[in-house]
Amino acid sequence: MNKLLNSFVCSLCFFLPLSGVAQPSKPNKLSMQVVIDPPRNAEDKAALQAMKDARTIDQFAQHVKDNFVLERALTLHFGGEDGPHYDPEASTIHMPYGFIQEVDDNFSKARYQRPGVSRKEAIQHAITAVLFHELAHALIDAYGLPIVGKEEDAADGLAVVALIRLYPKGRELAISAADLYEIESRDTTPEKEDYFDAHSLDIQRHYSMLCQVYGSDPGPYAWLAKKAGFTQDRREGCEEEFVILDDSWLALLEPFLKKGAPLLKQ
Ligand SMILES: [Zn+2]
Repeated sequence: MNKLLNSFVCSLCFFLPLSGVAQPSKPNKLSMQVVIDPPRNAEDKAALQAMKDARTIDQFAQHVKDNFVLERALTLHFGGEDGPHYDPEASTIHMPYGFIQEVDDNFSKARYQRPGVSRKEAIQHAITAVLFHELAHALIDAYGLPIVGKEEDAADGLAVVALIRLYPKGRELAISAADLYEIESRDTTPEKEDYFDAHSLDIQRHYSMLCQVYGSDPGPYAWLAKKAGFTQDRREGCEEEFVILDDSWLALLEPFLKKGAPLLKQ
C-alpha cells in the first residue's frame, strides 16, 4: 500500500493544526503540499513535536508560499526512511523523522551549549537550515537555474541567505546549522570518498557558513570570526564573498519571486 495514503496531506498546513482532520487538497502549482506521515513510535512523535513546538514546518511552508512562484507542484514530506534529500522525479523534499532524531543525538552527545540558544532550539534551527538547503535543490531543478561550482555548496549558500533574510534571528539559525557540521566532523577522519563527494567536508561546510554569517554583519559578529580563528585576510574575504553570494542568489531567483517577496526586502 502506498505509504502516502496513510499520510496527512494539505497544501496550507500552516493554517491547520497538525493533529486536526484535513481534507487532502489537489496539487496546486502555486502552493507547496505538506505531507506528514503519522509518527510510528515515541521517537518519531517527539521529533514531530519538536518541529511543531517551533512552528518549523509552518514557517518554512509560509516562506515558500510568500516568496516563490512554483512552476510545478512541490511536496514537503515529513517521514519515510531516506533523506533529507530532494527527489527531482517526484518534486519532493523528504525529511525523515530519523534525521531529526540524529540531529538531536548529535547535539545531545556533544552537550551542545550556546548562550541564548537551547539544545532544542539548535535542533529546530538546523532542520530549518536543511529544509532551505533542500529547497535550493528544488528551485535549481524547477527553474533550471545555472550553477557554477558544487551545487551542494550553492545550496548551503542559499540556506544562509534565506535564513538571514527571512528569519529575525536568521544568523543564529545558521550558526546552529554550522555547528552541527562541526559536531558531525568530530571523531571521523575523512577518507578518499569524502574528498570526492558532492558535498564539501563537514568541517568546510561549518567554516563556510560561519564565514557567510560573519561576512553578512561583521560588526556584531566579530566574536564569531574570532571564535572561528579567521585571520584578517579571511575576514575581509568573508565580507566580499557574502555580498557576491547574496547578490548572486537574488539575481538568479528574482524572475521567479512573487511581487513584494520578503526575500527581496533588506
Ligand atoms: Zn544537498
